[in-house]
Amino acid sequence: MGHFQWTGETTRSFKTRLRRAGACILAAAAALSLTGCAAGGGSSSAAGSSGDSAEIFAMDTVMDLTAYGKNGPAALSASEEKINALEALLSRTKKTSEVSRLNSAGGAATAVDSEVFSLISRAKALGQDTDGAFDITVAPVVSAWGFTTDSYQVPSQSELDELLTRVGLDNIALGADGSITLKNGAAIDLGGIAKGYASDCVANIFAEKGVKSGKISLGGNVYVCGSKQDGSAWRVAVQDPNNSESYVGVLSLSDAFAVTSGGYQRYFEKNGKKYHHIIDPSTGYPAESGLISVTVVADADADAEIGPGTVCDAFSTALFVMGADRAVDFWRSNGAKYGFGLVLVTDSKKVLITHDIAGKFEEQEGSGYRYEVVS
Ligand code: AMP
Ligand code: MG
Repeated sequence: MGHFQWTGETTRSFKTRLRRAGACILAAAAALSLTGCAAGGGSSSAAGSSGDSAEIFAMDTVMDLTAYGKNGPAALSASEEKINALEALLSRTKKTSEVSRLNSAGGAATAVDSEVFSLISRAKALGQDTDGAFDITVAPVVSAWGFTTDSYQVPSQSELDELLTRVGLDNIALGADGSITLKNGAAIDLGGIAKGYASDCVANIFAEKGVKSGKISLGGNVYVCGSKQDGSAWRVAVQDPNNSESYVGVLSLSDAFAVTSGGYQRYFEKNGKKYHHIIDPSTGYPAESGLISVTVVADADADAEIGPGTVCDAFSTALFVMGADRAVDFWRSNGAKYGFGLVLVTDSKKVLITHDIAGKFEEQEGSGYRYEVVS
């Protein structure tokens, strides 16, 4: 079996559960030749014929990076530095971050770091493309459910109604002077886009350092650089949302991004009901769209105005909210423009693959899912 890279996310809370069921996850990982799966936080690295690799814990996720060739170590340390710098700018929980400064500015115009300004502008534009299914101003609602602090609760309807009055992309005013004003009591949460943006940054660092082959997984955000050492495509497994030890299929990818959003990646249970972390900004509730995972796949594109990792991340979150029919329509209207394809997994055990990437997708025999190519 080839080398797999999972697109499923391992968040801190998820990792706690993984640890409990650790043996089978690690056993499954070994069977799939999944690399860099050592449990434990902090940073570690290993070198050898399998390339140089690093495992870091940042942005509340376990991240694995592997780079081949003589510049691998330099590329990995520059990537780690960049990811940590991004976390310091973008975190909602670090009081000194640019995002926290903005969120606590009380509606005043706030000069922000230019990279942060540009990411927030992209997040707003991508959100508008999705008709607000992706909306970084969902922040107060995400917090009310406890996903910011990991102390979970089900908010009351009246609380959600009040918070929803502050949600909306129009509340983000982008100043020509590089300042941002959050109007109407709004706050922002870049959790749905930051790791995708970080993956674009790593892709750029790999290119700058001359890395020709490598792979990274930043908590569900996969980027594969070039091909495997033997020249064949990387094999990226799309996790079965119903079974963390299995997958619904495998994508053969070179120089590409694959980003998965799924309700299984972070959730809590209350009174026998599961509440996950992807919020429908129109209701304030975790989206119940019939989709249980969305994987957005795009080729790397050095000339892209908005990096493909960033686009895939925003859209995977948005399409999870939209549900299968709207997601496929969205792909029909925007797939060619942004150069992305989809693997959608529904709660009725169907896997929908858009025809542009169908040739790269291998069904998993015996998975129990029905597969359908859409065009
Ligand atoms: P992802 O795993 O990329 O789908 O992003 C999910 C994270 O994005 C959540 O943990 C929240 O921080 C944030 N989020 C949740 N719902 C939305 C939404 N509808 N639009 C933008 N960000 C969201
Ligand atoms: Mg996302």
